[in-house]
Amino acid sequence: MEHVVAAPDILSVDPIPEKESRLSNTFLRLKKHLERKVGEAIGDYGMIADGDVVMVCVSGGKDSFTLLSILLALRERAPIDFRIVAMNLDQKQPGFPDHVLPAYFESIGVEYRIVTENTYKIVKDKIPEGKTTCSLCSRLRRGIIYRTAKELGATKIALGHHRDDMIETLFLNMFFGGKMKSMPPKLVSDDRQNVVIRPLAYCSEKDIERFARGMEYPIIPCNLCGSQENAQRKQIKAMLRDWDARFPGRIVSIATAMKNVVPSHLADNALFDFKGVSCETEVDQGDVVFDNPDMPESLVDPVAIPIGAWRS
Ligand code: SF4
Repeated sequence: MEHVVAAPDILSVDPIPEKESRLSNTFLRLKKHLERKVGEAIGDYGMIADGDVVMVCVSGGKDSFTLLSILLALRERAPIDFRIVAMNLDQKQPGFPDHVLPAYFESIGVEYRIVTENTYKIVKDKIPEGKTTCSLCSRLRRGIIYRTAKELGATKIALGHHRDDMIETLFLNMFFGGKMKSMPPKLVSDDRQNVVIRPLAYCSEKDIERFARGMEYPIIPCNLCGSQENAQRKQIKAMLRDWDARFPGRIVSIATAMKNVVPSHLADNALFDFKGVSCETEVDQGDVVFDNPDMPESLVDPVAIPIGAWRS
């Protein structure tokens, strides 16, 4: 079986200065690094093709601003021709500064569409006070995004989720949903009318934070609706941040693992025919019985229980 070993993400472990000049060498290196990661993800998953119209959803947060900048930079030198349309949904949350994004889009000369729908009122009318509003809000937002993509003739909807969002979602589903499932880099939408892409799939949140700080984006706070971030997601985020601080390389390794799934070494009958296994069954690697998995030293957790100790 081929083992793909995750390389440590050098830029991610650099200290993040409070203020990063856009002309400094480290910032230019970071920009190049993000562009390379986005380019790799686009290539690996065939995210953008010649003639595509890519609708980039921009919420006003650091991730979607970064996504838009990197895609615009890559388009400049891409061997293919594609159109980018920035899209923002103004949900009429109290205090939403509706002049900020149009002014930003005009300042960088990108084609854009602002959609105004008072989903805030719908959510407030329907959900009792004190209950979490995110699931209805997201459903409404999703419908509007799909509809707008159709109106614009968009062939791809680009979202600003990054590598760490994908890992968080994986653990959320495992811990609370009993499923090994994450956010995919590319998938057809649930109404089967659109293709959704996540070009930041290989980018770490730390790098994006740092890039956004250097770019001095006019960030719009994400808590205008007054809703709190989901408590379970918060727990997972804290766990991953703790791991990242104590075990450098672990997050990169998890991200790499998501690209190296071995169905014969899990337990899903729908992905691998365990009932039909015989000595003739072709597998990359057979059962190693009690041997330790083949792991590079650097990835072995020093406090983990040795595999042999699991024997009863
Ligand atoms: S945090 Fe607010 S805007 Fe975001 S999904 Fe939840 S309710 Fe909607």
